[in-house]
Amino acid sequence: MTDFTYVKGSDGVATITWDVPGKSMNVMSLAGFAELDAHIDTALADPTVKGVIITSGKADFAGGMDLNVIARMKEEGGAQAAKAVFDGVMAMHVILRKIERAGMDPKTLKGGKPIVAALPGTGLGIGLELPLACHRIFVADNPKARIGLPEIMVGIFPGGGGTTRLVRKLGAMAAAPFLLEGKLSDPKAAKAAGIIDEVVPSADLLTRARAWVLAASDADLVKPWDAKGYKMPGGTPYHPAGFMTFVGASAMVLGQTMGVYPAAKALLSAVYEGAMVPFDTALKIEARWFTSVMMNPSSGAMIRSLFINKGALEKGANRPDAPDQTVKKLGVIGAGMMGAGIAYVAANAGIAVVLVDATQEAADRGKAHSEGILDKGIARRKVTVEKKAEVLARITATTDYAALAGCDLIVEAVFEDPKVKAAVTAKVEAAVGADCIFATNTSTLPITELARASTHPDQFIGIHFFSPVDKMALVEIIRGKATGARAVAKALDFVRQIRKTPIVVNDARFFYANRCIIPYLNEGARLLAEGVEPALIENAAKLVGMPLGPLQLVDETSIDLGVKIAKATKAAMGADYPDDTSDAVLFWMADQGRLGRKNGAGFYAYDAQGKRTGLWEGLEAHFPHASPQPDLTEVQHRLLFAQVLEAVRALEDGVLTDIREGDVGAILGWGFAPWSGGPFSWLDMIGAARAVEICDGLTVTHGPRFTAPALLRDMASKGEQFYTRFAATPKAA
Ligand code: NAD
Repeated sequence: MTDFTYVKGSDGVATITWDVPGKSMNVMSLAGFAELDAHIDTALADPTVKGVIITSGKADFAGGMDLNVIARMKEEGGAQAAKAVFDGVMAMHVILRKIERAGMDPKTLKGGKPIVAALPGTGLGIGLELPLACHRIFVADNPKARIGLPEIMVGIFPGGGGTTRLVRKLGAMAAAPFLLEGKLSDPKAAKAAGIIDEVVPSADLLTRARAWVLAASDADLVKPWDAKGYKMPGGTPYHPAGFMTFVGASAMVLGQTMGVYPAAKALLSAVYEGAMVPFDTALKIEARWFTSVMMNPSSGAMIRSLFINKGALEKGANRPDAPDQTVKKLGVIGAGMMGAGIAYVAANAGIAVVLVDATQEAADRGKAHSEGILDKGIARRKVTVEKKAEVLARITATTDYAALAGCDLIVEAVFEDPKVKAAVTAKVEAAVGADCIFATNTSTLPITELARASTHPDQFIGIHFFSPVDKMALVEIIRGKATGARAVAKALDFVRQIRKTPIVVNDARFFYANRCIIPYLNEGARLLAEGVEPALIENAAKLVGMPLGPLQLVDETSIDLGVKIAKATKAAMGADYPDDTSDAVLFWMADQGRLGRKNGAGFYAYDAQGKRTGLWEGLEAHFPHASPQPDLTEVQHRLLFAQVLEAVRALEDGVLTDIREGDVGAILGWGFAPWSGGPFSWLDMIGAARAVEICDGLTVTHGPRFTAPALLRDMASKGEQFYTRFAATPKAA
């Protein structure tokens, strides 16, 4: 098995082709790096080789580094883990630096061999860091290609020289969006930004690369930072312009990350410190900060949830054994906000969609939603006019249930009313074949109850999308009591087709995500009722990495929806209902006509354009500030434990069957502090014993909703962690 092959052309140009066997996308492994190194040595040692092209045998260049490798480096290092990671990273720097210097005399900078990168498509992470070490980067004119360094998105930063090289190439300010936000670009935008050198027609990629190699002069091979008199674009930290950049960048990073993401801070340090020293020292600094990030539990947890486990779930880790269930024709019933979004994502993924509503006007409005999204895509040059026509042609908007004939999956998204849903189920089943799977997008009604309306309850399932459907990555699949394996497989295959991330949970009130987010919102309202300053509530949440404070989140989802859910839940739970205190806050807000962002008035005030202008001043009159105010940590504990205890209870109750789904679902579903890797990763980080201790304290002061679940107590007594106790989660049935 070889990842790289080496072919020497009769013109003296050697081509190293990256083509990892058995994978659709190249990823870099340690073995791959060693092979590449050996081929570079061969080329540099062979006097008949004039230069080298590094390219890919696949449609794309590379998706990045196999992060499992770095995680393993750390594990295998044992007590010397940091040293193992640092040495491993430095070994990569040595190879990339060898490519960059290409055998040239370090004094005269002459005599090197040109080495170019020729990318047929996407180059991400190390798939761009390797090209950045080459002397010229050619990318095929492939608008689908994505070029960039997305490492920050999984809690690390580019540690293969990408940080140091991009900053020296573009300057700290210009490199910031690519490093700090992981911004990806198509080839033309990447060229405009100065990241790559040439965009060429696909068919000419290798010819153009070859011509450059054969014509390159000594001077063409010298990187600006290796040339005498190099000055960093935009200035180094002690240059007046550079000073402004770095001061601004520090403030911006802290403002965006609230200081909870170690990678962003480490990245900035690597850039700042690296800017003041020679290039090779800067690489060493980059490697040290990279190691420090790798050793931080937050990064390990983020990689585990957002890269390894997210990927495993998307590949069907919990898919039951069942034949391929790829959806060919989808029926969507209800063309409202959710149905229209579901129709769009399916049609966009190439699936034929019949979109049914009670009136033709409503059905057409649902289809127009797709048109709107596609038009925005065209305006941003992400979508072509042809693509728009293709996607729209796949959607048939109608009132006629007969058009559903031949559908193999139905997703129902009509009003949240069991009677309406039951009538729709019967009507659909009369129109479709006996083996069609029926899914409901309900957010609150038990699947098992809704399945009673079906003549095939084993083919009845919940597929719960989040709003807005085209943006939200998570889809929650809910098994009712009678749901069969084929229905689960169908739902998972569908989610895979539309390129979202699935979790599979069992049926219970609010399933998983809403079950955990509601207590967070309620805790926010309770704090307010107790006289805690709203700014403290909101900032406490943000400072612990929640993207939105609880009050803002209620505003976004709307206060009347909260009132509706609260009333329905109370009616269903009766005397056990625990949330009267927070309901009083919501009901009062609704009585004031403050329904949230949608009517420009909620916990926040909004201007005429709908922009938030600050917390609503009327809150203080109705909820006078208590004195003294609680300390920040206590507020944070209340807000976090409200969520994580519910996640633990969902696991205890068997709603969750896999903690990986609990963590991935929490981050993607409601934005649970991504730096933590999710609720279970966070509990592992602080330890079950400490978690129980905090819960016991909160129970005394704030009541039994903080009682530590038996599972957590048991783990505390045994010194266990979730990721060890539940390491071998059995495959779901
Ligand atoms: P909506 O009111 O925007 O849309 C419902 C649509 O269903 C309307 O267009 C209506 O005309 C149509 N409809 C009603 N009865 C029908 C019938 N008998 N036959 C055909 N069409 C019919 O509602 P929505 O927000 O899109 O929610 C739909 C479902 O999705 C609900 O079950 C809701 O709980 C669930 N859901 C909503 C959200 C959310 O954020 N809004 C999130 C997840 C799930």
